[in-house]
Amino acid sequence: MRICRFNGDRLGVVRGENILDVTALLKEMPHYTYPFPCHDALVANLSAMRGRLEELALEGRRVPLHAARLMSPVANPGKIVAAPVNYADHVAEALNDPLMRTGNAIGHIREVGLFLKATSSMAGPSDAIRLRYPDRRTDHEIELAVVIGRPADRVSRADALEYVAGYSVGLDITLRGPEERSMRKSLDTFTVIGPWLVTADEIPDPGELDLELLVNGEKRQSSNTRQLTMDVADLIAFASSFYTLMPGDILLTGTPAGVGPLQAGDILEASIEKVGTLRARVARLA
Ligand code: MN
Repeated sequence: MRICRFNGDRLGVVRGENILDVTALLKEMPHYTYPFPCHDALVANLSAMRGRLEELALEGRRVPLHAARLMSPVANPGKIVAAPVNYADHVAEALNDPLMRTGNAIGHIREVGLFLKATSSMAGPSDAIRLRYPDRRTDHEIELAVVIGRPADRVSRADALEYVAGYSVGLDITLRGPEERSMRKSLDTFTVIGPWLVTADEIPDPGELDLELLVNGEKRQSSNTRQLTMDVADLIAFASSFYTLMPGDILLTGTPAGVGPLQAGDILEASIEKVGTLRARVARLA
């Protein structure tokens, strides 16, 4: 199932070229009071409400996909966990570029660890990526985004994929320079997630997906998740050995070679096999 958020916090199920409006589901969700959970309430209830979602989709109003403003399918992730260089070809690229080496510990993830991005950096396909420092280099990075479905605390590699709610296309937009990764990658709109969440049952093996990024129609990045140094199951096991992953937490799995600078006006098309194509545009700070 493909689940999306659109047109100002409406909830949808994507079928073919249409969205079926299932916003009514939100009224049936458990009611939360203060203190609000530090996880995403919709994702936390997704598997329990899956049957109801299917029912509502049958009667849902149809909205053509091309006419909808798509937002990040996860509204309130508690954290965004990201893998630094996790494709061998990108390691070589990073080591050969002085600007990319600056401020980056480059090594095996088991040694340098994962980093966190601010949740306030989240954006969806309908939001422009805003260049806050147009005089500095800002790069695109396409990544498979994994959305956690239930609390994962010290899970084994063998069990790890059972904790996944689904997958999405992610853009880990990166300001180059000397600051910590967590700061340079946390600017507003620098984590684009979309176009929807594909539930995990549709992708039994996330380790064999083609991914490709075009900028203004020109191919910049192209690889397959087979090339990941640390695969999705290992990333979940490793991350959850340090902290509990919560429903709605997003795991950005790293980017292949071909990263490059963005300019205002650029149009990005990021595609991942079995997930979909995320289209986003780049603009100056409003
Ligand atoms: Mn990245």
